[in-house]
Amino acid sequence: MNQAANANLFSLLFDGVDDPKRLAIETHDGALISYGDLIARAGQMANVLVARGVKPGDRVAVQVEKSVANIVLYLATVRAGAVYLPLNTAYTLNELDYFIGDAEPSLVVCDPSKAEGLAPIAAKVNAKVETLGPDGKGSLTEAAEKASSEFTTVPRSSDDLAAILYTSGTTGRSKGAMLTHDNLASNSLSLVDYWRFTDKDVLIHALPIYHTHGLFVATNVTLFARASMIFLPKLDPDLIIKLMARATVLMGVPTFYTRLLQNPALSRDTTKHMRLFISGSAPLLADTHREWSARTGHAVLERYGMTETNMNTSNPYDGERVPGAVGFPLPGVSVRVTDPETGKELPREEIGMIEVKGSNVFKGYWRMPEKTKSEFRPDGFFITGDLGKIDGKGYVHILGRGKDLVISGGFNVYPKEIESEIDAMPGVIESAVIGVPHADFGEGVTAVLVCNKGADVTEAGVLKALDGRLAKFKMPKRVFVVDELPRNTMGKVQKNILRDTYKDIYAKK
Ligand code: AMP
Repeated sequence: MNQAANANLFSLLFDGVDDPKRLAIETHDGALISYGDLIARAGQMANVLVARGVKPGDRVAVQVEKSVANIVLYLATVRAGAVYLPLNTAYTLNELDYFIGDAEPSLVVCDPSKAEGLAPIAAKVNAKVETLGPDGKGSLTEAAEKASSEFTTVPRSSDDLAAILYTSGTTGRSKGAMLTHDNLASNSLSLVDYWRFTDKDVLIHALPIYHTHGLFVATNVTLFARASMIFLPKLDPDLIIKLMARATVLMGVPTFYTRLLQNPALSRDTTKHMRLFISGSAPLLADTHREWSARTGHAVLERYGMTETNMNTSNPYDGERVPGAVGFPLPGVSVRVTDPETGKELPREEIGMIEVKGSNVFKGYWRMPEKTKSEFRPDGFFITGDLGKIDGKGYVHILGRGKDLVISGGFNVYPKEIESEIDAMPGVIESAVIGVPHADFGEGVTAVLVCNKGADVTEAGVLKALDGRLAKFKMPKRVFVVDELPRNTMGKVQKNILRDTYKDIYAKK
């Protein structure tokens, strides 16, 4: 095989499989899928894709529930040299109209219940429609079962696209991040090493697979290591704790850890077979980190990544896993912090824009050359949009998205700094600090809290406790207590929703 053929992620994942009988995926209802099965099923599915007219470089847009068949579709698309384009299962037809119009796929795969509604949308770009249900049944698998499993993996160069993932786009249009075979392969291989994955590992996989975390980090890392994963449709704390008796790794968003902590069955004993708990996609509260260590004896390993960059940093496997920090740049990844205005690199401990460079970083935004250009520095660093710092020991800390920065009376207020103060108060579970329009200050610092049931937390009490601990310009002008913070499916607090809810509170009467 020549060099080009080797760069196809599918070849890199599977060419060296020496034991096809080795278990790759086990489902919650007991189905066992070996590496050999995966390869054969990906061959059948790739033949169907080609028969439906999918050519190398074509996009295959997929909005289906998590299932083994969906993973097979991902692998088959890559194997056929096409571009896998997963879409959040929550998207409505109206939203799909934008994504399909923008990506112009040659094939759209959807849940059988959505096929009728999607047909006219797909027709606008001449895309065919096939179905795939959560049970793995549909027109696509029906055809695949009859197809040959022999398929010659389409040669791809490392710079060819393997996937496009649309960013969640809480402000402005959602952008398609173009990810190459090398972006995905190099990052997963680096994580296998950094997190010490081996063929003995059993991963509990309860994440969605339309997002980089569940699709690339969890799935590719497991498959590269020849490990296996237990596929769960969603977070089910009772079942996860039961599975820990024979699993070794859990990858989750912070909500997984807070929900598991609420379960009385979580203990040192029930987690003793596990070797690693990984968290990412949203900030893990330092308190959750400490509580987890106290309850289980395991320090959660927090890492930082994004759709556009795959994984950038990780707390160490052996060294100290610092609560509230996202660790060190992964091997091959350069991270720097710069002045957001001038782009000049800042010294350690100073807060600025996090920029990254490495083979993990995407190729650009789909059909948005100007946007792509404006997000990269001339020396190739990608401007992440995250504000943070690198501390004296080299650990990276994230202080929030740049767009969440509050500017009050001309001063920069970093929400995380205030949230950390508030989160440490008795009775407070978590908080979100936002800026909302204020007639005198431009933006008024506003805190929204979630507290323990029955806790005596009041606005006056919080303000009194903060007085003297924070500079006056950082002090919240109002404090609200709510039952829960709005979150998206990856556990990220949706500050845009909060800003909207409280947008009129400082309006002049
Ligand atoms: P996404 O593209 O949906 O994966 O979102 C990426 C964004 O999630 C990053 O730019 C960060 O703002 C945030 N993020 C990811 N991991 C972490 C983490 N460990 N701590 C804080 N924020 C994180």
